[in-house]
Amino acid sequence: MKVLVLNSGSSSIKFQLFDRDGWGVLASGSVSRIGEAEARLRCLWEDDQGQPQVREEQGAMPDHHAGLQRIAQVLERTGTLADPSELLAVGHRVVHGGEAFHAPTLVDDDVIEAIRQVIPLAPLHNPANLDGILVARALFPSISQVAVFDTAFHQTMPRTAYRYAIPDNLYREHGVRRYGFHGTSHHYVGARAAELLGKPFEQVNLITLHLGNGASATAIREGTSIDTSMGMTPLEGLVMGTRCGDIDPAVPFYLAKHLGVDVTTLETLLNRQSGLLGLCGDNDLREIQRRAEEGDETAELALGVTAHRLKKYIGAYLAELGTVDAIVFTGGIGENSSELRARACAGLEPLGVMLDPASNTAGSNQERVLSAAKSPIKIMVVPTNEELQIAREAVQAVS
Ligand code: AMP
Repeated sequence: MKVLVLNSGSSSIKFQLFDRDGWGVLASGSVSRIGEAEARLRCLWEDDQGQPQVREEQGAMPDHHAGLQRIAQVLERTGTLADPSELLAVGHRVVHGGEAFHAPTLVDDDVIEAIRQVIPLAPLHNPANLDGILVARALFPSISQVAVFDTAFHQTMPRTAYRYAIPDNLYREHGVRRYGFHGTSHHYVGARAAELLGKPFEQVNLITLHLGNGASATAIREGTSIDTSMGMTPLEGLVMGTRCGDIDPAVPFYLAKHLGVDVTTLETLLNRQSGLLGLCGDNDLREIQRRAEEGDETAELALGVTAHRLKKYIGAYLAELGTVDAIVFTGGIGENSSELRARACAGLEPLGVMLDPASNTAGSNQERVLSAAKSPIKIMVVPTNEELQIAREAVQAVS
Protein backbone atom coordinates (compact mmCIF):
# COMPACT_ATOMS: atom_id res chain seq x y z
CA MET A 1 0.00 0.00 0.00
CA LYS A 2 0.97 3.65 -0.48
CA VAL A 3 0.50 6.91 1.41
CA LEU A 4 0.14 10.30 -0.28
CA VAL A 5 1.15 13.37 1.75
CA LEU A 6 -0.23 16.76 0.71
CA ASN A 7 0.78 20.22 1.88
CA SER A 8 -1.67 22.71 0.36
CA GLY A 9 -0.79 26.39 0.32
CA SER A 10 -2.82 29.28 -1.04
CA SER A 11 -1.55 28.79 -4.62
CA SER A 12 0.38 25.54 -4.42
CA ILE A 13 0.17 21.87 -3.46
CA LYS A 14 3.33 19.98 -2.49
CA PHE A 15 3.14 16.20 -2.54
CA GLN A 16 5.11 13.09 -1.62
CA LEU A 17 4.08 9.53 -2.31
CA PHE A 18 5.46 6.92 0.10
CA ASP A 19 5.64 3.16 -0.06
CA ARG A 20 4.15 1.91 3.21
CA ASP A 21 6.66 -0.95 3.20
CA GLY A 22 10.01 0.58 4.09
CA TRP A 23 8.84 4.19 3.69
CA GLY A 24 10.70 4.79 0.43
CA VAL A 25 9.67 7.92 -1.52
CA LEU A 26 8.04 6.79 -4.79
CA ALA A 27 7.41 10.29 -6.16
CA SER A 28 7.50 13.89 -5.00
CA GLY A 29 6.88 17.34 -6.38
CA SER A 30 4.49 20.23 -6.46
CA VAL A 31 2.01 22.24 -8.44
CA SER A 32 2.50 25.96 -8.06
CA ARG A 33 0.91 29.18 -9.32
CA ILE A 34 -2.57 27.66 -9.07
CA GLY A 35 -5.06 30.21 -10.38
CA GLU A 36 -2.50 32.02 -12.53
CA ALA A 37 -2.48 31.84 -16.34
CA GLU A 38 0.35 29.30 -16.41
CA ALA A 39 0.39 26.98 -13.43
CA ARG A 40 3.35 24.61 -13.08
CA LEU A 41 3.71 20.99 -12.18
CA ARG A 42 6.97 19.28 -11.26
CA CYS A 43 7.27 15.60 -10.42
CA LEU A 44 10.38 13.61 -9.50
CA TRP A 45 10.46 9.82 -9.43
CA GLU A 46 12.67 6.86 -10.27
CA ASP A 47 12.03 4.64 -13.29
CA ASP A 48 12.10 0.82 -13.24
CA GLN A 49 15.92 0.89 -13.52
CA GLY A 50 16.21 3.19 -10.50
CA GLN A 51 17.15 6.19 -12.69
CA PRO A 52 15.92 9.59 -11.41
CA GLN A 53 13.29 11.15 -13.69
CA VAL A 54 11.73 14.62 -13.80
CA ARG A 55 8.54 15.74 -15.49
CA GLU A 56 7.61 19.40 -15.75
CA GLU A 57 4.36 20.68 -17.21
CA GLN A 58 2.68 24.04 -17.57
CA GLY A 59 -0.96 24.81 -18.12
CA ALA A 60 -4.12 26.22 -16.65
CA MET A 61 -5.02 24.96 -13.18
CA PRO A 62 -7.77 27.33 -12.09
CA ASP A 63 -8.14 25.89 -8.59
CA HIS A 64 -6.85 23.27 -6.11
CA HIS A 65 -9.22 20.66 -7.54
CA ALA A 66 -7.59 21.01 -10.96
CA GLY A 67 -4.15 21.01 -9.30
CA LEU A 68 -4.74 17.76 -7.44
CA GLN A 69 -6.28 16.20 -10.54
CA ARG A 70 -3.03 16.94 -12.41
CA ILE A 71 -1.01 15.40 -9.59
CA ALA A 72 -3.15 12.24 -9.74
CA GLN A 73 -2.70 12.13 -13.53
CA VAL A 74 1.06 12.51 -13.40
CA LEU A 75 1.36 9.83 -10.68
CA GLU A 76 -0.69 7.51 -12.88
CA ARG A 77 1.41 8.24 -15.98
CA THR A 78 4.69 7.69 -14.15
CA GLY A 79 3.34 4.38 -12.91
CA THR A 80 4.02 5.32 -9.29
CA LEU A 81 0.29 5.29 -8.50
CA ALA A 82 -1.48 3.39 -11.24
CA ASP A 83 -4.76 3.45 -9.33
CA PRO A 84 -5.87 5.48 -6.29
CA SER A 85 -7.11 2.26 -4.68
CA GLU A 86 -3.43 1.53 -3.94
CA LEU A 87 -3.60 4.32 -1.34
CA LEU A 88 -3.95 3.38 2.31
CA ALA A 89 -4.44 7.03 3.25
CA VAL A 90 -3.86 10.64 2.27
CA GLY A 91 -2.12 12.66 5.01
CA HIS A 92 -2.69 16.42 5.05
CA ARG A 93 -0.55 19.01 6.78
CA VAL A 94 -2.81 21.39 8.71
CA VAL A 95 -1.12 24.33 10.39
CA HIS A 96 -3.53 25.05 13.22
CA GLY A 97 -5.64 22.59 15.19
CA GLY A 98 -6.44 24.92 18.10
CA GLU A 99 -7.24 23.00 21.29
CA ALA A 100 -9.47 20.55 19.44
CA PHE A 101 -6.73 18.33 18.01
CA HIS A 102 -4.06 16.52 20.03
CA ALA A 103 -3.24 13.80 17.50
CA PRO A 104 -3.52 12.89 13.81
CA THR A 105 -7.23 12.70 13.02
CA LEU A 106 -9.30 10.81 10.48
CA VAL A 107 -11.28 13.42 8.54
CA ASP A 108 -15.07 13.44 8.68
CA ASP A 109 -17.65 16.25 8.44
CA ASP A 110 -17.19 17.19 12.13
CA VAL A 111 -13.42 17.41 11.72
CA ILE A 112 -13.82 19.64 8.67
CA GLU A 113 -16.10 21.91 10.69
CA ALA A 114 -13.62 21.99 13.60
CA ILE A 115 -10.76 22.97 11.25
CA ARG A 116 -13.02 25.70 9.86
CA GLN A 117 -13.65 26.96 13.41
CA VAL A 118 -9.95 27.67 13.97
CA ILE A 119 -9.49 29.63 10.73
CA PRO A 120 -9.44 32.93 12.69
CA LEU A 121 -6.29 31.67 14.47
CA ALA A 122 -4.50 30.87 11.18
CA PRO A 123 -6.22 32.87 8.44
CA LEU A 124 -3.31 32.54 6.01
CA HIS A 125 -2.86 28.78 6.27
CA ASN A 126 -5.92 26.85 7.44
CA PRO A 127 -8.22 27.83 4.52
CA ALA A 128 -5.71 26.46 1.99
CA ASN A 129 -5.06 23.33 4.10
CA LEU A 130 -8.81 22.77 4.27
CA ASP A 131 -9.14 23.25 0.51
CA GLY A 132 -6.60 20.47 0.04
CA ILE A 133 -8.62 18.14 2.27
CA LEU A 134 -11.89 18.92 0.49
CA VAL A 135 -10.52 18.35 -3.01
CA ALA A 136 -8.73 15.14 -1.99
CA ARG A 137 -11.95 13.89 -0.45
CA ALA A 138 -13.84 14.65 -3.68
CA LEU A 139 -11.16 13.11 -5.89
CA PHE A 140 -10.50 9.98 -3.78
CA PRO A 141 -13.87 9.45 -2.02
CA SER A 142 -13.10 5.93 -0.83
CA ILE A 143 -9.65 6.72 0.62
CA SER A 144 -9.14 7.74 4.27
CA GLN A 145 -8.04 11.36 4.67
CA VAL A 146 -5.99 12.17 7.78
CA ALA A 147 -5.30 15.66 9.13
CA VAL A 148 -1.91 16.08 10.86
CA PHE A 149 -1.62 19.33 12.79
CA ASP A 150 1.50 21.47 13.35
CA THR A 151 0.11 22.40 16.75
CA ALA A 152 -0.86 18.90 17.97
CA PHE A 153 2.52 17.85 19.41
CA HIS A 154 2.49 20.92 21.69
CA GLN A 155 -0.93 20.21 23.17
CA THR A 156 0.86 18.50 26.08
CA MET A 157 2.25 21.85 27.30
CA PRO A 158 1.15 22.62 30.86
CA ARG A 159 -1.10 25.63 31.44
CA THR A 160 1.76 27.50 33.06
CA ALA A 161 3.60 27.38 29.73
CA TYR A 162 0.71 28.06 27.37
CA ARG A 163 -1.21 30.82 29.15
CA TYR A 164 -0.41 34.50 28.63
CA ALA A 165 -0.72 36.81 31.63
CA ILE A 166 -3.69 38.69 30.19
CA PRO A 167 -7.36 38.70 31.29
CA ASP A 168 -8.74 35.19 31.69
CA ASN A 169 -11.77 35.71 29.43
CA LEU A 170 -9.50 36.34 26.43
CA TYR A 171 -8.39 32.74 26.75
CA ARG A 172 -11.80 31.26 27.65
CA GLU A 173 -13.84 33.14 25.08
CA HIS A 174 -11.34 33.83 22.31
CA GLY A 175 -8.69 31.10 22.58
CA VAL A 176 -5.85 33.57 23.16
CA ARG A 177 -3.04 31.30 24.40
CA ARG A 178 0.22 29.83 23.15
CA TYR A 179 -0.22 26.88 20.74
CA GLY A 180 3.23 26.39 19.20
CA PHE A 181 4.01 25.24 15.65
CA HIS A 182 6.48 23.04 13.72
CA GLY A 183 5.16 20.23 15.97
CA THR A 184 5.53 17.58 13.26
CA SER A 185 9.20 18.49 12.83
CA HIS A 186 9.99 18.67 16.57
CA HIS A 187 8.28 15.30 17.03
CA TYR A 188 10.16 13.69 14.14
CA VAL A 189 13.66 14.91 15.08
CA GLY A 190 13.03 14.25 18.78
CA ALA A 191 12.00 10.65 18.15
CA ARG A 192 14.94 10.11 15.77
CA ALA A 193 17.37 11.59 18.30
CA ALA A 194 16.05 9.19 20.94
CA GLU A 195 16.60 6.28 18.53
CA LEU A 196 20.15 7.46 17.88
CA LEU A 197 20.72 7.70 21.66
CA GLY A 198 19.44 4.13 21.96
CA LYS A 199 16.60 5.06 24.33
CA PRO A 200 12.79 5.07 24.08
CA PHE A 201 11.43 8.53 23.21
CA GLU A 202 9.42 8.37 26.47
CA GLN A 203 12.67 8.28 28.43
CA VAL A 204 14.57 11.24 26.97
CA ASN A 205 14.65 14.97 27.67
CA LEU A 206 15.58 17.05 24.64
CA ILE A 207 15.84 20.59 23.37
CA THR A 208 14.92 20.56 19.68
CA LEU A 209 15.78 23.58 17.54
CA HIS A 210 14.02 23.89 14.18
CA LEU A 211 15.94 26.71 12.49
CA GLY A 212 14.85 27.59 8.97
CA ASN A 213 13.16 30.65 7.52
CA GLY A 214 10.67 30.06 10.33
CA ALA A 215 12.34 29.00 13.57
CA SER A 216 11.25 27.54 16.88
CA ALA A 217 12.71 25.81 19.94
CA THR A 218 10.96 23.10 21.95
CA ALA A 219 11.60 21.58 25.37
CA ILE A 220 10.70 17.87 25.32
CA ARG A 221 10.31 16.01 28.61
CA GLU A 222 9.99 12.22 28.36
CA GLY A 223 8.79 12.41 24.77
CA THR A 224 6.26 15.21 25.20
CA SER A 225 6.46 18.93 24.47
CA ILE A 226 6.43 20.97 27.68
CA ASP A 227 7.27 24.34 26.16
CA THR A 228 7.91 25.89 22.78
CA SER A 229 8.98 29.29 21.55
CA MET A 230 6.19 30.06 19.05
CA GLY A 231 2.94 31.26 20.56
CA MET A 232 -0.62 31.92 19.47
CA THR A 233 0.90 32.57 16.04
CA PRO A 234 4.29 31.70 14.51
CA LEU A 235 5.50 35.27 15.19
CA GLU A 236 6.66 34.71 18.79
CA GLY A 237 10.06 33.44 19.87
CA LEU A 238 13.33 33.19 17.95
CA VAL A 239 14.65 35.64 15.37
CA MET A 240 13.51 34.33 11.96
CA GLY A 241 14.12 35.12 8.29
CA THR A 242 11.57 37.94 8.18
CA ARG A 243 9.74 37.63 11.55
CA CYS A 244 10.86 39.55 14.61
CA GLY A 245 10.16 36.86 17.22
CA ASP A 246 9.97 38.13 20.81
CA ILE A 247 9.45 41.86 21.10
CA ASP A 248 8.12 44.20 23.77
CA PRO A 249 4.33 44.18 23.12
CA ALA A 250 4.41 47.95 23.60
CA VAL A 251 6.48 48.48 20.44
CA PRO A 252 3.44 48.17 18.13
CA PHE A 253 1.50 50.64 20.36
CA TYR A 254 4.37 53.09 20.10
CA LEU A 255 4.53 52.75 16.31
CA ALA A 256 0.75 53.10 16.01
CA LYS A 257 0.61 56.19 18.24
CA HIS A 258 3.71 58.03 17.13
CA LEU A 259 4.05 57.02 13.48
CA GLY A 260 0.34 56.53 12.73
CA VAL A 261 0.98 52.98 11.48
CA ASP A 262 -2.20 50.88 11.07
CA VAL A 263 -2.70 47.25 12.13
CA THR A 264 -2.23 45.73 8.67
CA THR A 265 1.01 47.64 8.15
CA LEU A 266 2.21 46.51 11.59
CA GLU A 267 1.44 42.89 10.76
CA THR A 268 3.42 43.16 7.54
CA LEU A 269 6.25 44.97 9.31
CA LEU A 270 6.70 42.35 12.04
CA ASN A 271 5.97 39.26 9.89
CA ARG A 272 7.61 40.11 6.57
CA GLN A 273 10.05 42.96 7.02
CA SER A 274 11.72 42.12 10.33
CA GLY A 275 13.97 39.34 11.62
CA LEU A 276 17.24 38.86 9.70
CA LEU A 277 15.84 40.86 6.78
CA GLY A 278 14.99 43.82 8.99
CA LEU A 279 18.31 43.76 10.78
CA CYS A 280 20.59 43.56 7.75
CA GLY A 281 18.56 43.56 4.51
CA ASP A 282 19.07 39.84 3.76
CA ASN A 283 17.20 36.79 4.97
CA ASP A 284 19.41 34.13 3.39
CA LEU A 285 21.78 33.10 6.16
CA ARG A 286 24.47 31.97 3.71
CA GLU A 287 24.65 35.49 2.30
CA ILE A 288 24.61 37.02 5.79
CA GLN A 289 27.50 34.77 6.91
CA ARG A 290 29.47 35.70 3.78
CA ARG A 291 28.94 39.41 4.43
CA ALA A 292 29.86 39.07 8.12
CA GLU A 293 33.10 37.29 7.19
CA GLU A 294 33.98 40.24 4.96
CA GLY A 295 33.51 42.59 7.91
CA ASP A 296 29.97 43.86 7.25
CA GLU A 297 28.79 45.16 10.64
CA THR A 298 25.03 44.93 10.08
CA ALA A 299 25.36 41.29 8.94
CA GLU A 300 27.49 40.60 12.03
CA LEU A 301 24.82 42.21 14.21
CA ALA A 302 22.06 40.09 12.60
CA LEU A 303 24.03 36.92 13.36
CA GLY A 304 24.73 38.14 16.89
CA VAL A 305 21.10 38.98 17.73
CA THR A 306 19.92 35.64 16.29
CA ALA A 307 22.48 33.61 18.26
CA HIS A 308 21.83 35.59 21.45
CA ARG A 309 18.07 34.85 21.29
CA LEU A 310 18.74 31.19 20.53
CA LYS A 311 21.11 30.86 23.47
CA LYS A 312 18.53 32.47 25.77
CA TYR A 313 15.96 29.82 24.81
CA ILE A 314 18.48 26.99 25.21
CA GLY A 315 19.27 28.31 28.69
CA ALA A 316 15.59 28.67 29.59
CA TYR A 317 14.82 25.13 28.47
CA LEU A 318 17.86 23.71 30.30
CA ALA A 319 16.36 25.32 33.42
CA GLU A 320 12.85 24.02 32.70
CA LEU A 321 13.98 20.47 31.98
CA GLY A 322 16.64 20.14 34.69
CA THR A 323 18.37 17.26 32.95
CA VAL A 324 18.79 17.13 29.19
CA ASP A 325 20.01 14.20 27.08
CA ALA A 326 20.58 16.13 23.86
CA ILE A 327 20.19 19.39 21.99
CA VAL A 328 19.02 18.65 18.44
CA PHE A 329 19.50 21.03 15.50
CA THR A 330 17.34 20.81 12.36
CA GLY A 331 15.97 22.96 9.49
CA GLY A 332 17.99 24.64 6.71
CA ILE A 333 20.01 26.70 9.20
CA GLY A 334 20.16 24.16 12.04
CA GLU A 335 21.36 21.41 9.69
CA ASN A 336 23.86 23.51 7.73
CA SER A 337 25.14 26.50 9.67
CA SER A 338 28.10 25.45 11.83
CA GLU A 339 28.57 29.18 12.49
CA LEU A 340 25.20 29.66 14.18
CA ARG A 341 25.45 26.36 16.08
CA ALA A 342 28.87 27.40 17.41
CA ARG A 343 27.62 30.85 18.45
CA ALA A 344 24.52 29.41 20.16
CA CYS A 345 26.53 26.86 22.16
CA ALA A 346 29.51 29.10 23.00
CA GLY A 347 29.90 29.60 26.75
CA LEU A 348 27.45 26.84 27.70
CA GLU A 349 30.26 24.41 28.61
CA PRO A 350 29.72 24.86 32.40
CA LEU A 351 26.10 23.79 31.82
CA GLY A 352 27.23 20.56 30.13
CA VAL A 353 26.97 21.67 26.48
CA MET A 354 30.35 21.03 24.83
CA LEU A 355 30.59 21.29 21.07
CA ASP A 356 33.39 19.47 19.25
CA PRO A 357 34.62 22.09 16.74
CA ALA A 358 35.85 19.54 14.18
CA SER A 359 32.57 17.57 14.16
CA ASN A 360 30.61 20.82 14.01
CA THR A 361 32.39 22.09 10.90
CA ALA A 362 32.68 18.75 9.05
CA GLY A 363 30.26 19.15 6.11
CA SER A 364 27.53 16.50 6.00
CA ASN A 365 23.84 16.19 5.31
CA GLN A 366 23.47 13.12 7.54
CA GLU A 367 22.25 12.60 11.09
CA ARG A 368 25.28 13.17 13.32
CA VAL A 369 26.63 13.93 16.79
CA LEU A 370 28.57 17.20 17.15
CA SER A 371 29.39 17.21 20.86
CA ALA A 372 32.75 16.40 22.44
CA ALA A 373 33.00 12.84 23.82
CA LYS A 374 33.00 14.18 27.41
CA SER A 375 29.97 16.47 26.90
CA PRO A 376 27.23 15.45 29.39
CA ILE A 377 24.62 16.79 26.95
CA LYS A 378 24.89 15.46 23.39
CA ILE A 379 24.62 17.94 20.55
CA MET A 380 23.13 16.47 17.38
CA VAL A 381 21.95 17.30 13.87
CA VAL A 382 18.90 15.39 12.66
CA PRO A 383 17.64 16.48 9.22
CA THR A 384 13.91 16.98 9.51
CA ASN A 385 11.40 15.00 7.44
CA GLU A 386 7.93 16.36 8.09
CA GLU A 387 6.40 14.52 5.13
CA LEU A 388 7.56 11.14 6.44
CA GLN A 389 6.23 11.98 9.89
CA ILE A 390 2.84 12.95 8.37
CA ALA A 391 2.78 9.69 6.35
CA ARG A 392 3.52 7.61 9.46
CA GLU A 393 0.94 9.48 11.55
CA ALA A 394 -1.65 9.03 8.78
CA VAL A 395 -1.09 5.28 8.89
CA GLN A 396 -1.29 5.35 12.69
CA ALA A 397 -4.64 7.15 12.45
CA VAL A 398 -6.19 4.70 9.97
CA SER A 399 -5.07 1.60 11.81
P1 AMP B 1 14.41 26.26 5.50
O1 AMP B 1 13.29 27.23 5.74
O2 AMP B 1 14.45 25.13 6.51
O3 AMP B 1 14.50 25.77 4.08
O4 AMP B 1 15.78 27.08 5.75
C1 AMP B 1 16.13 28.19 4.99
C2 AMP B 1 17.36 28.86 5.61
O5 AMP B 1 18.44 27.92 5.67
C3 AMP B 1 17.87 30.07 4.82
O6 AMP B 1 18.16 31.14 5.70
C4 AMP B 1 19.15 29.54 4.22
O7 AMP B 1 20.08 30.57 4.03
C5 AMP B 1 19.63 28.60 5.29
N1 AMP B 1 20.64 27.69 4.76
C6 AMP B 1 20.47 26.72 3.84
N2 AMP B 1 21.67 26.13 3.57
C7 AMP B 1 22.60 26.73 4.36
C8 AMP B 1 24.01 26.59 4.54
N3 AMP B 1 24.71 25.68 3.87
N4 AMP B 1 24.62 27.40 5.45
C9 AMP B 1 23.91 28.32 6.13
N5 AMP B 1 22.59 28.50 6.00
C10 AMP B 1 21.93 27.73 5.13
